[in-house]
Amino acid sequence: MPDLINLAGAAWASEQLPLRWLEGDDSCDCMYQRIGEWKNPYLGSTHQIRLCCVWAELVKLYPQFVQDVPVYWDNNQIEPVHGPQQWDSEEMDMPLGLWYRQLAVREGRPLAEVREEYKYKQNLRPKKVSPGAGRESKQPDARTVRMALLDRLVRQGWRPEDAIAVFERQDREEQRAKGR
Ligand SMILES: [Zn+2]
Repeated sequence: MPDLINLAGAAWASEQLPLRWLEGDDSCDCMYQRIGEWKNPYLGSTHQIRLCCVWAELVKLYPQFVQDVPVYWDNNQIEPVHGPQQWDSEEMDMPLGLWYRQLAVREGRPLAEVREEYKYKQNLRPKKVSPGAGRESKQPDARTVRMALLDRLVRQGWRPEDAIAVFERQDREEQRAKGR
C-alpha cells in the first residue's frame, strides 16, 4: 500500500510533460471543471481541452443561453434542494477543489480569494463521516425516485399513463428476473 501511495501522482512528474488535466484538479477558477480528452495508442498522443474554460468564453458571448439557479436539482427528488449540503462521504475527505468552491458559494466571495486564504487552513477541510452517517444511508425511497422521474418525463412530453405503463412493465420484468 505505501508503494501505491508513493506512486500516485509520480507518474507524470517523472517525465518532461505538461501536467495532465483532470476534472477536479482545481487548475482553473471555473465552478464546474470539465476536461475533454481524446487519445489513441496507435497515434501515441492525447488531445486535451479544458472545456470549462472554453465554455466560460462562450458564455460571455451568449449569456442569453445560460441560467444559473441557486438550488440543486436532484434527479431523485421532486423538490429542489436549497443551500450547499454538508459533506457526507464515508469514503473520503472533501476534495480540495470542491471545498474551495463550496466556501466561495457560502461566503459569496471569489474563488481565487477563498483558495488563497484557505490553503493555509487545511485543518478545517471536512473529513469523511463515520460509517452509517453518510449519504448512502440517506437515499430517497423508491417511490420518491419514481415520482421525480415521472415529473421529468411529463415535462418532456410523456403522457403520465404511458410513463406509468412503462414503470409497471419494468416492475413485472424485475419480478420475473427475481423469480428465476
Ligand atoms: Zn476551467
